[in-house]
Amino acid sequence: MTKTCSVCHGELKQQLITYTQFLEGHFVVIENVPAWVCENCGETYLDPEVVDRIHRVLWSGGEPARTIETPVYDLSTVA
Ligand SMILES: [Zn+2]
Repeated sequence: MTKTCSVCHGELKQQLITYTQFLEGHFVVIENVPAWVCENCGETYLDPEVVDRIHRVLWSGGEPARTIETPVYDLSTVA
């Protein structure tokens, strides 16, 4: 069964992505997330069980694999 994009009806391919989320004032990055990515427009879709796993990781309070510094830019201050 081929999955198709609900935005452009392009074909979805399973791919590992880096998922990012802003959580309680922290920017959280989750690597190696299995997702469906549209070959045409790049839209990503996550299976419900993958979303469940992400939530479990985020709310478990466990130690992250590593921590990175994240530069933040404000476009309103740039000409
Ligand atoms: Zn698409």
